[in-house]
Amino acid sequence: MVGVVLRDLRKQWGDFVAVEDLNLEVEDGEFVVLLGPSGCGKTTTMRMVAGLEPVTAGDVFIDGERVNNRLARDRDIAMVFQNYGLYPHMTVGENIGYPLRLRGLRGEERRRRVAEAAAKVHLDALLDRRPRALSGGQRQRVALARAIVRTPQLFMMDEPLSNLDAKLRVSMRAELKHLHHELGTTTIYVTHDQIEAMTLATRVAVMDSGRIVQVGVPETIYGDPDTLFVAAFIGSPPMNFVEGTAADGVMAVGPHRIAVPRGVDGAVVLGVRPDDVHLVAPDEGDVSGTVYSAEYTGNAFLVTVETGDTRVTALDHSGRRATFDETVGLRLDPARRFWFDRDSGRRLRS
Ligand code: ATP
Repeated sequence: MVGVVLRDLRKQWGDFVAVEDLNLEVEDGEFVVLLGPSGCGKTTTMRMVAGLEPVTAGDVFIDGERVNNRLARDRDIAMVFQNYGLYPHMTVGENIGYPLRLRGLRGEERRRRVAEAAAKVHLDALLDRRPRALSGGQRQRVALARAIVRTPQLFMMDEPLSNLDAKLRVSMRAELKHLHHELGTTTIYVTHDQIEAMTLATRVAVMDSGRIVQVGVPETIYGDPDTLFVAAFIGSPPMNFVEGTAADGVMAVGPHRIAVPRGVDGAVVLGVRPDDVHLVAPDEGDVSGTVYSAEYTGNAFLVTVETGDTRVTALDHSGRRATFDETVGLRLDPARRFWFDRDSGRRLRS
């Protein structure tokens, strides 16, 4: 049973603070994803947990024990990186078995465990190949098999799918998810890809500028964001934002007036996901505008509408193809509106 606790973690190089006030509790068996834009401190955080980077301040606890002063190799963590890190001169089987060899395991027992790990990631038929004779997806599987072969206490994965093409990334995602279901090993996973985070995580920790800004199950991060940053970072196509000034219960958007809930006042931002924007007749919407573009996505049209100096996108499932410059109304689902303070970015909850 292995949990990870990060308490007031900080990393500083000279004056530059890469990670600050970071607190996180990862429970046994969880799959927690650190999600955030490039440079927000995800990899640095992971490296501190793994013991590859000394902490400037704060504590790392693994399985209830403070490990700040414990060497990386004594933390019983298996890591998987973006660039696989395979040994080119070794076969697939030798690569997978390497961590066992390092620990002195030999002969039949090693062969059996390599075969088991290889079978879990469907590499059984390729054990004698060298890495150069493998596709990117197969190499990533070797790296995964090498990580699972010695049943570590903890997995840490840093953008492990980033080098794969889009289709392979989707199928490897499902395999990773299934593998976690099978093994139940506590996992910390780093990515800047919000879809990857939402699909894989039991909980997502969203990071911005060295801090965790929200932690929650994917449904909460998507459906109940605390800040404008989280709302904007999660969701594809991204959430629409309309800026305005709210007073006396309404916000003016060009000639339109949108009712605002109690507690929403002053400089605010209204957020609505494209799924919750519906195309209606010009005089029936909360706002109206002209169609700037309509993109067919296979099961819907992504329609971009210009209203005043704002563009709003709607994911329209009606099957009707909107035409350029057509005037349309947009109904913004009243139950699915998010309000934010424009200056602080904080969510305004009524
Ligand atoms: P990415 O998604 O691009 O990998 P990240 O969120 O993982 O980004 P980190 O690699 O943790 O970000 O880096 C956080 C910040 O710390 C960055 O601004 C980076 O330039 C800086 N940084 C990382 N390593 C060092 C170092 N050894 N010395 C100084 N600054 C560093």
